[in-house]
Amino acid sequence: MNNQKLFREAYELLPGGVNSPVRAFKAVGGNPIVLTKGRGCRVWDADGREYIDFLASWGPLILGHSHPKVVKAVRKEVEQGMSYGLTNPHEVRLAKLVVEMVPSVEKVRFVNSGTEATMSAVRLARGITGRKLILKFDGCYHGHYDSLLVSAGSGVATFGIPGTPGIPDEIASLTLVIPYNDLEALRNVFEKHGNDIACAIVEPVAGNMGVVPPQKGFLKELRKLTKDYGALLIFDEVITGFRLAKGGAQELFSVEPDLTCLGKVLGGGMPVGAYGGRKELMERVAPEGDIYQAGTLAGNPVAMVSGVETLKELRDTEPYDELEGKMNLLKEGVGSILEDKGIPFRINQIGSMMTVFFTESEVKDFGTAKTSDTEMFSKFFKALLGRGVLIPPSQFEAWFVSTAHEQRDLEEALSRIEDAVKSL
Ligand SMILES: *Cc1c(COP(=O)(O)O)cnc(C)c1O
Repeated sequence: MNNQKLFREAYELLPGGVNSPVRAFKAVGGNPIVLTKGRGCRVWDADGREYIDFLASWGPLILGHSHPKVVKAVRKEVEQGMSYGLTNPHEVRLAKLVVEMVPSVEKVRFVNSGTEATMSAVRLARGITGRKLILKFDGCYHGHYDSLLVSAGSGVATFGIPGTPGIPDEIASLTLVIPYNDLEALRNVFEKHGNDIACAIVEPVAGNMGVVPPQKGFLKELRKLTKDYGALLIFDEVITGFRLAKGGAQELFSVEPDLTCLGKVLGGGMPVGAYGGRKELMERVAPEGDIYQAGTLAGNPVAMVSGVETLKELRDTEPYDELEGKMNLLKEGVGSILEDKGIPFRINQIGSMMTVFFTESEVKDFGTAKTSDTEMFSKFFKALLGRGVLIPPSQFEAWFVSTAHEQRDLEEALSRIEDAVKSL
């Protein structure tokens, strides 16, 4: 079956033909593709077309597709058994790696997705502090949990409005939303509501409004204010964890949160999330403590070994400088191609993640990200796809490189991109 035929059937059976909205290509238009195979830095669709892949399954595949060590371990574990519903040894192995690699984590609970991780961390923070309010930053995405799927209304420090029908105003109004990287709004919101804030949750490097790094002092001030007011600081490192450094953004910026949410790279392509932190905080989680959270398939052995092999490889090879070098090459190549064509753009890059924004203004928060020309992005995306380069089908997402992208792959990608941009 080919792409078109499969999608026609998918539309009948799945809302929008997909199990996660962005996959439907609604933000860029055109026909979505169905992927059937991935090897290294490349994927193939149901029509047999090949693409150099910078989507990387939205971030998990830091070692590329089907890394031999990961595949071998998964295969072996599947033969052994797929799920027990009681503790298996690989949960302990993965927990050890997480605690060793992530600076602020002493104890960890595994869940099945990033959404579950943030939802559970927020519950824990509310349980510990006995407070109701949550502070989040406009444009940061923390999964689709009600309290976190909230957008900013107008004004600077504001109570959130539901990001979708189905979330009661009463729930959204417990979430405060302020702009990312805005120190003044940050100080104001703590001055006004600080004693009622259970936690502040932040992407320490934003990846879901496109890549937006924290400006100097932003994370440090956030750490200081949360501490001063007795609120917990949650780093949502679902993208940045194990990607920007062994210990994620908290290692890179030397700021230690109280709780950390993990996902994506953690499972090496299998559905795994986690939340963790200092012992005295995590000891409040049931059954050791009184704050309930559970999961039938949490700590699934097949998913755990995928994570174990992925983290071991990252710990032992520390490929972070190499990954950054690769992304630099891509960034500079794409930059000069766009410049030659006279298309205005800004590229935000940190380590192995970047976003090409089609705007002339510096992008430092969601407001400035939204100055991007999404029509231009959509043309760019389609031209790339037509020439065998897969990037995320939205202006407001990150491109990723993996250890499987070799220099010659990047050169090939750049020559395809040059061709694509010429056609615009
Ligand atoms: C992807 C993502 C999530 C949600 O993870 P899911 O596994 O899709 O539920 C949460 N936070 C951040 C920062 C993410 O990038």
